[in-house]
Amino acid sequence: MTAFAFSLLATDGAARRGRIATAHGTVETPAFMPVGTAATVKAMLPESVAATGAEILLGNTYHLMLRPGAERVGQLGGLHRFMNWPRAILTDSGGYQVMSLAELRQLDETGVTFRSHIDGQMHELTPERAIQIQHALGADIAMVLDECTSFPVEEGKAALSMRLTARWAERAKAAFRERPGHGLFGIVQGSVYPDLRAESAAGLVRLGFDGYAVGGLAVGEGQAAMFEMLDRTVPLLPADRPRYLMGVGKPPDIVGAVRRGIDMFDCVLPTRSGRTGQAFTRRGAVNIRNARHIEDPRPLDEACACPACRSYSRAYLHHLWRTQEILGQMLLTWHNLHYYQQLMAALRAAIAGGRLDAWTAAFEAEQNRGDIEPL
Ligand SMILES: [Zn+2]
Repeated sequence: MTAFAFSLLATDGAARRGRIATAHGTVETPAFMPVGTAATVKAMLPESVAATGAEILLGNTYHLMLRPGAERVGQLGGLHRFMNWPRAILTDSGGYQVMSLAELRQLDETGVTFRSHIDGQMHELTPERAIQIQHALGADIAMVLDECTSFPVEEGKAALSMRLTARWAERAKAAFRERPGHGLFGIVQGSVYPDLRAESAAGLVRLGFDGYAVGGLAVGEGQAAMFEMLDRTVPLLPADRPRYLMGVGKPPDIVGAVRRGIDMFDCVLPTRSGRTGQAFTRRGAVNIRNARHIEDPRPLDEACACPACRSYSRAYLHHLWRTQEILGQMLLTWHNLHYYQQLMAALRAAIAGGRLDAWTAAFEAEQNRGDIEPL
């Protein structure tokens, strides 16, 4: 079986065109990972997700440990078989959802205990348990348990939290079982404080991980602050390992982060927006709920090759929304995931061709034009 590896194929400025080899196939980078929260990318068949070009999914440890339970998924052959996704899977550590969803959290040096938001049962997540769960799920890429601080947070608090995350990272690494094609990523924290980010990155690099994530961003600090943190943090990460910006983002956020050397992304936006009537297109966001579409026979985006754009009109998509038909959510989700994967493919081609600046200027001009004129 192939070893977990990252090959750097081309660079353009700080941007990188690469390839990750995993136990479940290769992932071309920069890559976008659709979110498969509860062992499903909502409203999509796995075959359809693959048809959009996705080569790796994100699975949520928090949701899967509560339902159906990580060991149960393990007994059923692991997450790949359970959800019928034969390609690569990255699982998060559960930490972020514990902080955002669970009740009665208690966090100390050992880990975090919390009450399930589903049935009120108490659970414990430690750095070791988070790794054990991700092993049971069979994740190709596992993440260390971290504390994602909220925003804003004062520097002293951010420092304590980041150092706790650093100690947890060491324990996670000790608990991680090396297997061919499987990797463990550390997570840089430190909120919007460059010195803390630098200390966090240096500590993780000393420990040595298969990849490095930048966490704790896109939590309300704004795009300018996020980009500034990437400018300060990314150069401190080893060039021969993949870099993953967690939970990002809107298309312009992704483009800006790729230009700063990020290789991997995940975000619920394309799927969640698809279920609430928002489409991402070359010309910015389109709200299909808007009455302007009611008699519009044109596709969402005439240049898009997804099923929603190839075979259906804006009028029909608008009708499906108004009647709350499931197909409306399916088609918009498909379109959004297709758009995100097309965006990543275009970024990869632009980096490989050494024309990322020109490509970015064209991308921004098109986004800023806004949607086509109403009929
Ligand atoms: Zn489309």
